[in-house]
This record gives sequence, C-alpha cells and structure tokens, in this order.
Amino acid sequence: MNYYSQRRLALTRDLKRDGLDALLISDPVNIFYLTGFTGDSSYFVASPKHSILVSDTRFEAQIEEECTGLEVVIRGHDKTTEEALGEVLGKAGLKSVGVESRHATLAMLEMLASSAPKSTFAGAGARVEELRVVKDASEVERIRESVKVAERAFGMFKVMMRETDTEKDLADRMDHFLRLCGGTQSSFPVIAAVGDRGALPHAPPTRRQLLEGSKLLVDWGAVLGGYHSDLTRTIRSPYLMAPSRKNKPERVGRDFEKLYNVVLKAQSAAFDVIREGVAAKDVDAAARKVITDAGLGDFFTHGLGHGLGLETHEAPRVRKNSDDILQAGMVITIEPGVYIPGWGGIRIEDDVLVRRDGHTLLSTLPRELAEIEKG
Ligand code: ZN
Ligand code: ZN
Repeated sequence: MNYYSQRRLALTRDLKRDGLDALLISDPVNIFYLTGFTGDSSYFVASPKHSILVSDTRFEAQIEEECTGLEVVIRGHDKTTEEALGEVLGKAGLKSVGVESRHATLAMLEMLASSAPKSTFAGAGARVEELRVVKDASEVERIRESVKVAERAFGMFKVMMRETDTEKDLADRMDHFLRLCGGTQSSFPVIAAVGDRGALPHAPPTRRQLLEGSKLLVDWGAVLGGYHSDLTRTIRSPYLMAPSRKNKPERVGRDFEKLYNVVLKAQSAAFDVIREGVAAKDVDAAARKVITDAGLGDFFTHGLGHGLGLETHEAPRVRKNSDDILQAGMVITIEPGVYIPGWGGIRIEDDVLVRRDGHTLLSTLPRELAEIEKG
C-alpha cells in the first residue's frame, strides 16, 4: 500500500461512525495529499469503498501519470464538473456527504444542491488537515530536500549582494536562486528588509538600498515536490562600513550583537523543550521567557512558530494561546524575533522535526552571528 492509499484509508475509516457516506474534498492541496494529483479545478470523493477523482480533459493525461488506484471520471465539454460530480454521487448512492469546512464555498454548495439533489452536504471540519499534521517519512524527506534548496539559495544570495541592491532586487534574486537551486518556486513572497524596515515582521520589499541600513533581515523558503521550507536570517549589512552618502543611521540606538544573542538564546531555549507530549504553548513560553528576561518582551510581537508542510502555515500553532500538543512527526518552525520601531528587527527561523524524545533540526545553516556573517 502506498502513502496515498494509506492516507485515504485513515481518512475514511471512521466515516460511518460520524454518519457520513463520503467526504468531498475540494481543496487542491488536500487532493494532492490524498492522491498525488497536482492539478486543480477537480473534486475528490473519498468513502470506505470509493476513491473517485472528478476532473476535466485538461488533466486526463496528468492524472494517468500521477495517480494510481483511483476511479477517474473525466467530464465531457457539455457538463460542469459539479454536474459530473452529481452523477457520480448519485450512481454510487452516496447520500450523506461531508464537505471541507475551510474550503467549500457557498457557490459550490448551491451548484451541488441542483446537480446532486439526492445527496445532502454538511461541514465535516478539517479532517485532511488533521491528518497532515503528522508527517510520514516520505514527507519529512521532501521537507528536508526543500530546506536544502533554500539553504543553497542563501549561499548564492550572500555572495551576490551588492551595496546598491534594493530590497526588491534582493527579494527577486532570492526568488530566482530558489528556482535555480532546484525549487519549483518560493513558498511565499521573499522578505528582504533593510535597516529599520526590519521592524515590520512581514515587510514588503521597497526601493530602499542595502547601503541605506546597517542590517538586513531575509525570510525565504522553497517549494519542492509540493513541500515548503521557511527560514529567516538577520545579518549586519556588509556595507555598513562603506563611506556611503546614503547610509541612514537608525533613529534608535541598540546593540545589534547583544539583541541578536538574546534572540538566538530564545531559539535554543525553545529547541531544548521540544519533544512529543509537550504543549506547543510551553515551547513558545520557553523562548518568550528569555526575551522577556532581557527586557524585550514587548518587542516579541508574534507567535513562536507554526507547522510546515504542503503549506507554509499549517497546524500546529506554536504560540501563547495554542491548545496543540506536540506529536512525533510534526514539522514546525521556531522563529523568535524582536521588532523595535525606528531601529529594526531581528528574527532567526529554523525548521524542526518533533521526535518522541526531542527534535531534529532540518535546517543546517549556521545560526551564530559570526558564522553566518563569514564568507
Ligand atoms: Zn519565515
Ligand atoms: Zn515562518
């Protein structure tokens, strides 16, 4: 049994207990997780007896290439996908159908009400997302590969930086390096924040040049085989010492190295408590304590991290108000930061696999300031 059929089995095992004949999966990411199909505009019907992919002719050959063990229904040009789906549900006698609460739209339900009059549809929560929380060995391997791509891209990025690069140039170039290094694309728009712009945790790139600030925050990640990586490094601008006309000293004075080491220590404190059974909020608390003890608590303005997989942000939530408990096989980011208006920000972000008795770092870039600034 391959990974896809194992996942379908886990998804449909308890459907009867919940009074459902089938689940209707409409989110392309979840359809990929259950079938390997990388296209979109399709529906997947999962029941203990059926695995039916309803799609159109554009994807016919692709489905043949990517998927095994599925019943495939390709609709004709004279029908909508919802009409074809209605026929499928009717023929299979699937009456009580659960839809994905986070992805089903009102438009979709209205269409299904007329194309599948014998079926009833009800929200069935986020069952596929719940399965996706714990990664199997193949997924961990893919995330590890995606991290490797991101790390190779960072190596190129660092040697190609020039003092006249704008944040936009830097972000665009990282995006290109992520593809050059084997990624399909960036996991999210690259963040490159110069000087005090680093105080915005999600700073959109501007025309500000590298030589206009004393530090640079870069947040980037690759997608490879559908799986995402997500890393952040903050470095001093190598052009800080250049006799520049444009260098704008930050309005607020702070010791970069001192702050950097607080954030680094906070990250290590979080790593130290990660293992199966620990509450995600306690991991956040371990990092937050270090930053608060240094008098910087008010400047750590976001949660410590998030799950990582087929999406950049997925369960579990690693933050103060999270009810999630860490399980072996979860992959999470640990990204403490401090953001000081008028000065800038420091964030260090790495990707971690939770294990029964601890953790494995999937990212291997140096985190010590002296090490990352070398070369
Ligand atoms: Zn990030
Ligand atoms: Zn992140």
